[in-house]
Amino acid sequence: MATYEYSCAEHGMTEVDLPMGTAPQSLDCPDCGAPAKRVYSSPMVSSVDQGRMNLIDSTKATADAPQVVSSVPGGGRINSKPTPMAPPDPRLQKLPRP
Ligand SMILES: [Zn+2]
Repeated sequence: MATYEYSCAEHGMTEVDLPMGTAPQSLDCPDCGAPAKRVYSSPMVSSVDQGRMNLIDSTKATADAPQVVSSVPGGGRINSKPTPMAPPDPRLQKLPRP
């Protein structure tokens, strides 16, 4: 089933549930019986998963208006931990010195 919208000149919009592809171009208005013209509307985008929409929106926002920071995240200490050194290779001692 799909929801189709019809617009009566006097009574406004009417929604009718019909099997897909069977909607006529006009329908009798349930209030006055006058022919109501079919209105084409966008599909039900609200049925899309909200979490997914939030992710898409935030991704687009990053491109359009990226967040700017004025300091390094994490307290400003860039090298809080020294890089571990590899243990000295004993073979290095045998290399010729200048
Ligand atoms: Zn009507």
